[in-house]
Amino acid sequence: MDIFEKLPYPGGRFTNLEYQGYQLTTGALHMIPHAENGPLGTMLKELGTGVRIIPSHPPGLFRIGGRDYEFRQLKDLFSLRDKVKVASIHAMLKLGKGGKESYRDWVKKRLNNRLALELSDSFCGWTLSIHADKLSSREFLAITSNFNRYRGPGIPEGGCGAVTRALVKVIEEGGGNIHLESKVTGIQLDGGRVTGMDCGGESHEFDVVVSNIGPKATVELCGEEAFSPDYVKSVSNIPEAAGIKISVACDRPMLGHTGALFTPQAKRIDGLNEVTNADPSLAPEGKHLLMSHQTYEPGRDIREEIELGLQDLRELFPDFDRHCRVLMVQSYHNGWPVNRTMSGKLMGPETPVRGLYNVGDAIKPRGWVETEGVAAGVKAALERIDAYGG
Ligand SMILES: Cc1cc2nc3c(=O)[nH]c(=O)nc-3n(C[C@H](O)[C@H](O)[C@H](O)COP(=O)(O)OP(=O)(O)OC[C@H]3O[C@@H](n4cnc5c(N)ncnc54)[C@H](O)[C@@H]3O)c2cc1C
Repeated sequence: MDIFEKLPYPGGRFTNLEYQGYQLTTGALHMIPHAENGPLGTMLKELGTGVRIIPSHPPGLFRIGGRDYEFRQLKDLFSLRDKVKVASIHAMLKLGKGGKESYRDWVKKRLNNRLALELSDSFCGWTLSIHADKLSSREFLAITSNFNRYRGPGIPEGGCGAVTRALVKVIEEGGGNIHLESKVTGIQLDGGRVTGMDCGGESHEFDVVVSNIGPKATVELCGEEAFSPDYVKSVSNIPEAAGIKISVACDRPMLGHTGALFTPQAKRIDGLNEVTNADPSLAPEGKHLLMSHQTYEPGRDIREEIELGLQDLRELFPDFDRHCRVLMVQSYHNGWPVNRTMSGKLMGPETPVRGLYNVGDAIKPRGWVETEGVAAGVKAALERIDAYGG
């Protein structure tokens, strides 16, 4: 097996980026959505990687009116009449299937209450980098069903870079080659099947090519003429999910726990985590790493959005300037997004070209978020490749 990576490091948007002694990241917030119970945790175990995932406790808290609430306490914030509706929503979240309507409309129909809508937006924003109006209720209910079944997130010891390093070791020990600084410039086809690819001015023969750069970029590498106009149109129109992450150095714990803090009442920030409560080695001794995430809606002024995120931090933590220092602000859009395909826009690993498969965060089966979706999509691709005989 040969892996071609255009950058000088492996891991794409899921690895560590050391800065001033802090383990920041190229993308991810150092969290695995279902800790060791989901598709990624299972895959890491099956591969014998030894990656330790520390379960988040509590999985998440919600900051409302300056106080932090657990999920089960949220109902106390509603009037007696609305409490009945909240209970019915909880029951539907466990038993319902949802449909095409957005999750926002689904909630609104059952409880037209500002806080309920803000809670929906911050959960979707933190988990998927889109707000509840962009997600079908069917996808949301599939996601919550997976959270009920496979439980909440965890933090890999050593951060997401530890996961990448462990996978690199498995690949290399299995005889695979990872070629860094090796940009693929074309995928060769013959008679509707894949025959190889071009990299660094050389052609390499392969009968199976698996791409994780997104279906649109994969089509471009093959040449659009190899596909029907409908297929080209369908992959060109896939919307991405964009976001902004702010990494902050702190001289004391600002959250004090290993879960997420959802911030439904903030102007832009959907949530934060403080991974050093799980793994102190992600920051210099005695310091903490706080990371915020906010959804970015393309078209908005990115500088203004960052400024609003920074204002949120100061409003959420009145002693922010005394204890915290912004280390880095990273924006993710335009081909280096949070999710290459918005959650709920489903696409399988197969392509119209025989021997060519897509994996990665554009190929997430229903209900699986972030790298759980990537791992579940990889599993589906491997099954197809086995069936193909590749
Ligand atoms: C802000 C942010 C927060 C996130 N938080 C989390 C989190 O806490 N938990 C979680 O599970 N997920 C999280 N994610 C999502 C997670 O990072 C992605 O799902 C995951 O990295 C996607 O992996 P991938 O392999 O599909 O894509 P990538 O990681 O983007 O990998 C694709 C690779 O292909 C390379 N490439 C592109 N073109 C070429 C070419 N022509 N030739 C050779 N190489 C090429 C790229 O350089 C890249 O390394 C987050 C993402 C972001 C941006």
